[in-house]
Amino acid sequence: MARNSNPARASCVCGAVQITMHGRALSRFYCHCSICQRLNKAPFGDPVFVWRWNVHVEDPTQLTWKRYRWLPINLNRGTCQTCGTLILEHLAATPMSVVIGRAWEDPQLLPPAWGHIFYESRVADVDDGLPKRSGYMSSELAAFGWNLAGMFGRS
Ligand SMILES: [Zn+2]
Ligand SMILES: [Zn+2]
Repeated sequence: MARNSNPARASCVCGAVQITMHGRALSRFYCHCSICQRLNKAPFGDPVFVWRWNVHVEDPTQLTWKRYRWLPINLNRGTCQTCGTLILEHLAATPMSVVIGRAWEDPQLLPPAWGHIFYESRVADVDDGLPKRSGYMSSELAAFGWNLAGMFGRS
């Protein structure tokens, strides 16, 4: 598919952080937890999972890193020093990274989201026909399953 050939690009609101991504995205879902709401300054987080070696940051000095514990995984979250946009996350102890979906320049290159997690803390109902998972265990298991399926090639 066309998705695999062109590198996709993402950038923060002010344009200081420019990211190029090769290869295919692994998975994508929406996270309605309060941390994602706050850090994304949006009703929900929109993580798109990719292999770390496929992500190229043109000027890494533009990013500020903070470590968050997003049980059961540790996450390093990279925001733009200038505009504060959360754009890139590295998952500790895995070769996966996240490039936030709303930062992608061409929405056509984004993979479809597989569902919603931590739906109980949603700001508003989402009527998109995708699976909705509420509660900690159910949300974590869904995210884990979607990422695992993404790693092994379902798309
Ligand atoms: Zn910026
Ligand atoms: Zn979240």
